[in-house]
Amino acid sequence: MTSAHMRAVITSRRELTPDLWILRLRPEQKLEFVPGQYVAVGLPGPSRLTERPYSIASSPHDPELEFFLERVEGGELSPQLYELPVGSEVYVRRQARGRLVFDRNSGRRDHFMVATVTGVAPFVSMIRTLAAEAQAGAVIPYRIALLHAASRPEEFGYLEELTELARRYDWFRYIPTVSRPWQAPGWEGERGRAEDVARKYLDQLGFRPEETVVYLCGNPNMIVNLEGLLLRAGFDAHAIRREMYWPSGAPVGPHSA
Ligand SMILES: Cc1cc2nc3c(=O)[nH]c(=O)nc-3n(C[C@H](O)[C@H](O)[C@H](O)COP(=O)(O)OP(=O)(O)OC[C@H]3O[C@@H](n4cnc5c(N)ncnc54)[C@H](O)[C@@H]3O)c2cc1C
Repeated sequence: MTSAHMRAVITSRRELTPDLWILRLRPEQKLEFVPGQYVAVGLPGPSRLTERPYSIASSPHDPELEFFLERVEGGELSPQLYELPVGSEVYVRRQARGRLVFDRNSGRRDHFMVATVTGVAPFVSMIRTLAAEAQAGAVIPYRIALLHAASRPEEFGYLEELTELARRYDWFRYIPTVSRPWQAPGWEGERGRAEDVARKYLDQLGFRPEETVVYLCGNPNMIVNLEGLLLRAGFDAHAIRREMYWPSGAPVGPHSA
């Protein structure tokens, strides 16, 4: 550990599937961050700390940090993190980073967020923070739609919470879509990959290129495909924000909806 790190204790973990879980940490000092940012989490290795960036799903108001994590088979850190029970200690950088933050400056009204599985984490932080502002009486002058793609419904992580927030607030729309509906009997929501359904919702919601900021997070293949599609549809490159969780062209994992 260096002065750039602090200790954090695991306070809870919620397993969604054998490879996906939601982890909460209490850092020894409050981490300052803007919703949408990530922070490096690490564990000591034989000679140095092994650390990886993870998007923060909690709101900055929350004294704990929440993460939505995938265990990547053969990975150096995530399988180790997965084994840790409540009460274990990890290291967290004192500084959060990242530019995938909610755009309040461009003056654009419409915000279209697209995530694959754990890529929803930064948007959960943004929506929770906006919902807290709305709860405190603020008027939210935006229209926000979150398109969340996964293979199966149990991979969404925040299905109930986001569905409830969408029911409560007319500025927010949550669209979960499953790419393997044959493995989800009873699923009545949207079907198809993010790339397949994005255009339908942009049209349906009336989100026009000149009024919309697009945020893409998670699987690099989704990001590359959807960015190409959006550029062809007239969206400006500068109005498309991206956070790739692993390099484009790398082999895809089991949750690559
Ligand atoms: C800005 C940023 C934010 C991130 N936020 C999250 C997050 O909120 N939740 C989360 O689970 N991960 C997130 N990641 C990915 C995370 O940082 C690690 O890459 C991941 O946990 C794998 O680390 P590892 O040490 O287990 O595997 P490594 O040993 O680092 O990598 C093994 C291989 O798996 C690839 N890989 C990495 N992630 C995946 C994946 N999900 N599916 C398939 N292949 C993958 C790597 O490119 C590499 O080829 C984020 C990455 C970035 C850059």
